Amino acid sequence: MQPSVGERRPQSFERVLSSMCTEPHPAASRAAERFIASNPGDPGTYDAVADLETEAVAALGELAGLPEAHGYVTSGGTEANVQAVHAARNLGNAGNSNLVAPESAHFSFSKAAELLGMELRTVPTDGDHRADVDAVAAAVDDDTALVVGVAGSTEYGRVDPIPELAAVAEDAGTRFHVDAAWGGFYLPFTDHEWDFADAAVDTLTVDPHKVGRAVVPAGGLLARDAATLDALAVETPYLETPSQASLTGTRSGAGVASAAAALAELWPAGYRAEYERAADLAAWFAGELSERGYRAVDPELPLVAVDLPDPLFDELREVGWRITRTGAGEARVVVMPHVSRERLEVFLGTLDRLAGT
Ligand code: PLP
Repeated sequence: MQPSVGERRPQSFERVLSSMCTEPHPAASRAAERFIASNPGDPGTYDAVADLETEAVAALGELAGLPEAHGYVTSGGTEANVQAVHAARNLGNAGNSNLVAPESAHFSFSKAAELLGMELRTVPTDGDHRADVDAVAAAVDDDTALVVGVAGSTEYGRVDPIPELAAVAEDAGTRFHVDAAWGGFYLPFTDHEWDFADAAVDTLTVDPHKVGRAVVPAGGLLARDAATLDALAVETPYLETPSQASLTGTRSGAGVASAAAALAELWPAGYRAEYERAADLAAWFAGELSERGYRAVDPELPLVAVDLPDPLFDELREVGWRITRTGAGEARVVVMPHVSRERLEVFLGTLDRLAGT
């Protein structure tokens, strides 16, 4: 018989290496608990959590280099991406029937295209897993509503050439969206010279419940202008406020409050320290794997993809390591805040034992 719900414990993070979720910051957990019954979807009634959402969006805007950002705390990266596509479709002309994204784009764009009755044109990435700008340009036509760039890809942690993709979108007169759901909290500390403000990005996904260390669910959709949210808004007759731009109605007050708390606590010094820690650790880990003769993809952001010969991958999973594969078959290790050097040393010890080295 199963133990009662009260006796059960969540999955420990100790061996979780492929997830983009992590342990929330203690301040985020405390804020989540206080606002667990508040509904940011009804800001007129739940004004305290609505204020926190305004603060969270402002902080995300600062992080992304857009001081006047519009947006809201979504249920996650999927909702933010769906709504970015949704706004692009609503804002353009009647021919807005396709979006163009690199093949590295998250599967949420397939959901968006299907829901919105649009064609998703995926184009190959270059030899280093980044969007191929010429291929994107070739796929864009008069019916393109949106060009998508990824800043921190789910499988390889790669950052697409954002200014070049923005230029393609601008030349074609289409909107440009950047999916930085995972990478957004690292980018301000890297040497990427673009930011939201000067690369002509219309919308951006950046998720507090990933590297931002908020509780689940807390994604983020940012928009350069108010017209984007207006294009998503529907009238809400029975609420105290006249309209709503979010996809879901009732939303998590816990997620919103925790996002505001984590950002207040960690932006910028805490996130910088985490970026530096994780980047060093990923470089060390990739080096350790290469020294052992495994082909590791050189990490750009803190994510290491590595070829592990059969049956090592399955054997590691069997002894409890939560790892997943890229589409091409490499194992992915995402160096999230809960992934420490000690845990990776234990992983390498297990790998050596299983490989008999
Ligand atoms: N975009 C990227 C780049 C992601 O890596 C993910 C998830 O890992 C998503 C979007 C979807 O986010 P969520 O699972 O919060 O909906």
